[in-house]
Amino acid sequence: MPAARIGFVSLGCPKALVDSERILTQLRVEGYEIVPDYARAQLVIVNTCGFIDAAKAESLEAIGEALTENGRVIVTGCLGANRGEVDSRFPEVLAVTGPQAYETVVNAVHRHLPPPADSNGPFEALVPPQGIKLTPRHYAYLKISEGCNHRCSFCIIPTMRGRLVSRPAGAVLQEAERLVAAGVRELLIIAQDTSAYGSDLGYPISFWNGRPVKARLTELCWALSGFGVWIRLHYVYPYPHVDELLPLMAEGKLLPYLDIPFQHGSPEVLKRMRRPAATEDILARIQAWREVCPDLNLRSTFIVGFPGETDKDFERLLQFIELAQLDRVGCFQYSAVSGAAANKLPGAIPDAVKQQRYDQFMRTQAAISAGRLARKIGRRIEVLIDEAGGNGAIGRSAADAPEIDGRVFVDGAGFQAGDMIQAVVERADHYDLWARPESSQ
Ligand code: SF4
Repeated sequence: MPAARIGFVSLGCPKALVDSERILTQLRVEGYEIVPDYARAQLVIVNTCGFIDAAKAESLEAIGEALTENGRVIVTGCLGANRGEVDSRFPEVLAVTGPQAYETVVNAVHRHLPPPADSNGPFEALVPPQGIKLTPRHYAYLKISEGCNHRCSFCIIPTMRGRLVSRPAGAVLQEAERLVAAGVRELLIIAQDTSAYGSDLGYPISFWNGRPVKARLTELCWALSGFGVWIRLHYVYPYPHVDELLPLMAEGKLLPYLDIPFQHGSPEVLKRMRRPAATEDILARIQAWREVCPDLNLRSTFIVGFPGETDKDFERLLQFIELAQLDRVGCFQYSAVSGAAANKLPGAIPDAVKQQRYDQFMRTQAAISAGRLARKIGRRIEVLIDEAGGNGAIGRSAADAPEIDGRVFVDGAGFQAGDMIQAVVERADHYDLWARPESSQ
């Protein structure tokens, strides 16, 4: 019997990417063939993002394109949580399901394109033990929880993805073990709020390889460090127990890297944003972390032009980034997201002011980033190779997460993606490094 052929479009953040991987793994186990073009697909699934209006627009465009090019479309993901919007715009869509609704989306596929008749056994063998991954073979995202218990005023994720639901530590470690066995050399730990891991369950103990492990970030990180691969932490909020991770970083058990979305430097704006841990004395914490782990790399994102942001607030933000000396920073101009509480806040900032603040912010941070990278010249660093060619390779250091941070350009031939090499930094700009290889492993 010919296979049932599915096309898949995956949009959005690493959390959505993990959802796509799970759906694709399940469909492949059931015998569906995943094809890379609209023409051969008998049905197309679009996994959407609805975080900000620009992402929504991109998702709507992708649904429209799939309908034009193929005609039989199932929509899932964050935008699917707001099904009225999809239905009213595209009534011909076959089904709409929300994020993490793996079963619902697979059931919808069954309804509109039944799986091949003998789908209950032989197809297991077509799926690698680690499942289908959309990342290159040498790194993978490991999602430790779904949902979020916070209510940041600019964000509608909790309405779309629901309250925090953590995975048992044993299940996370099992998945990590399978990924490492399949050749993964870097695990990127993700969640909406990584630091809150286990708090919804009361930090229960589960078993992995006969050993008890608590579903709590420090204990989980400690156990993950036993795999001997890079462990990188994303979406961390600076709760007090984050301090416990720094000694692990200083000992080389975790990458000395924290991705903490601070979003602003003014306490008043943070209060209006209803940010978790908004009142912590962040600058003092950063200083203390660097004392424990001098090589710590800090990545963050900020929003400029949030409603009511005064010149003084913005000055405080600039002062904050000057003092914090963060390594990697992303910045967004505030834009309203339909359904977010912040839409009701007074004091909308004119676009021209947002742009001017954004430009000033980026100029300030570019100089800081360049200074941080320049300090690395002459140092030996470990580089994980992402792409290799005849004359050189492109990789990343401990300071660089894939897609969002900088790269390390390495001279020389004979490298392969996934190689871990030692290299000496020779040059830097405000974003990337250039290095001479010393040895490879
Ligand atoms: S912590 Fe705030 S920004 Fe992040 S997902 Fe939760 S509500 Fe949204």
